[in-house]
Amino acid sequence: MVDFEFERNSLVDDLKMRGYVTSKAVEDAMRRVPREEFLPAELREEAYVDSPLPIGEGQTISAPHMVAIMAENLDLKTGQKILEVGTGSGYHAAVCAEVIAPDGHIYSIERITSLASFAEDNLKRTGYAKLVTVILGDGSKGLPDHAPYDRIFVAAGAPDVPSPLTAQLTPGGKLLVPVGTRWYQDLIRVTRQGAKLEKENLGGCVFVPLVGEYGH
Ligand code: SAM
Repeated sequence: MVDFEFERNSLVDDLKMRGYVTSKAVEDAMRRVPREEFLPAELREEAYVDSPLPIGEGQTISAPHMVAIMAENLDLKTGQKILEVGTGSGYHAAVCAEVIAPDGHIYSIERITSLASFAEDNLKRTGYAKLVTVILGDGSKGLPDHAPYDRIFVAAGAPDVPSPLTAQLTPGGKLLVPVGTRWYQDLIRVTRQGAKLEKENLGGCVFVPLVGEYGH
């Protein structure tokens, strides 16, 4: 019988030691969200290996260190409105939800129907459904209905920064998106400064491809 809580805390201690988790807010969030609840039953015992894992349809749940890197570099704060592109299992959204609770909200868009319902079930069972709305669709075009967003993050690799996403940022808003080929990307952070967009390269990463109008 796996002691998930013990394993979760050991993994977060390790992520802190390796410099991926740097803030108390992200640390607390990762200590609270049960990653085992966002995995297919046969993979639950692997929940606290720091690695992406298959969730069906050829897609993956992101590795915990990547979730930590993205959460830290988004500078999340309570009350923010967030758009996630690529819901997958719903785990990444749940970690962000812990940080922006109780007044913030996450709209998370997923293009594969079975994964959108998998994520919705996972988020309901773990108590995050009030903070995260899952929507089925092509997130490479963003989600104009609820724009603008304080933060946008894309959990799939794009060929370029999708222009609809930068257009849907608030002034001072930040977007994180992996940009590159189908096999390897750089994690790009875009900050909207008035009419100007500031771009920074945060380093290499590997995501499944963003598919859709502004995807591969
Ligand atoms: N953040 C997720 C988690 O914690 O489980 C992992 C996301 S997974 C690496 C990438 C997801 O992006 C996949 O579920 C894939 O179907 C989705 N995706 C790819 N292109 C998309 C698009 N244009 N719109 C919405 N979702 C997309």
